Amino acid sequence: MPTYHAQAIVLAKTKLADSDLIYTLLSDEGSQLRAVGKGARKPTSKLSGTMELFHTVDLLAYKGRSLDTVSDAKLVAANRAIVSDVRLVALASTVAELVAKLSRSGQIEPRIFEMTGSYLAALDADQRAPTLTVAALLKISAQIGFRPEFHSCVLCGSPVLAVGSYRDFSVNEGGVLCSDCAAQSQSQSLSAELLAELERLLYSTFEAIVPAALPPRQLFAFVAQWLECHLQLHLKSYRSLGEYFE
Ligand SMILES: [Zn+2]
Repeated sequence: MPTYHAQAIVLAKTKLADSDLIYTLLSDEGSQLRAVGKGARKPTSKLSGTMELFHTVDLLAYKGRSLDTVSDAKLVAANRAIVSDVRLVALASTVAELVAKLSRSGQIEPRIFEMTGSYLAALDADQRAPTLTVAALLKISAQIGFRPEFHSCVLCGSPVLAVGSYRDFSVNEGGVLCSDCAAQSQSQSLSAELLAELERLLYSTFEAIVPAALPPRQLFAFVAQWLECHLQLHLKSYRSLGEYFE
């Protein structure tokens, strides 16, 4: 049977039969791999400890008719701080879910492997965690072509001047609107503070990001709307986030 090597991030694990697992992985080429870990749920399995959620692994697998099978895996980058903290698991799961959906539909590129890896490496139990997660969701969305526009009207191109503390914004059209265009189309009023924060997150490196001054709930509400509109994604994992934002 043909075997292959791949570097990949473990995005999800699903139970299969009594002791097996199916892994959903993002390869460094940007493609999605789905592979079975035979006996992976047994405590003695050589895969347990390595093929864990959010780890980057070096994988040896063989091709199957429908699913591949993992025969060996070496750890490249562990993210143990995440899996020992339910709050971080909930946050990282939103990004893993987005990446899994994009890679399944083929809307992915190698750069997203790097972005996801950098996000997971930066995520630890400090106050930045929700802000980093919003940044990761925005950056990945922008990378595949859905990048919010903050300064020029997305309908006519004229500069949107910073007047007052609110801007007309159309999620559907992808950015801010000038007052003339806003009068003729559907838009919502978003605070200049929120838009400035989103722009900062989109264009900062993960290392440089500091906790948002705004409640994370507001940032997530925007990102959820953005992803639903442009990618038709209704991320299941958002629901588990609610309780952390009270
Ligand atoms: Zn306009």
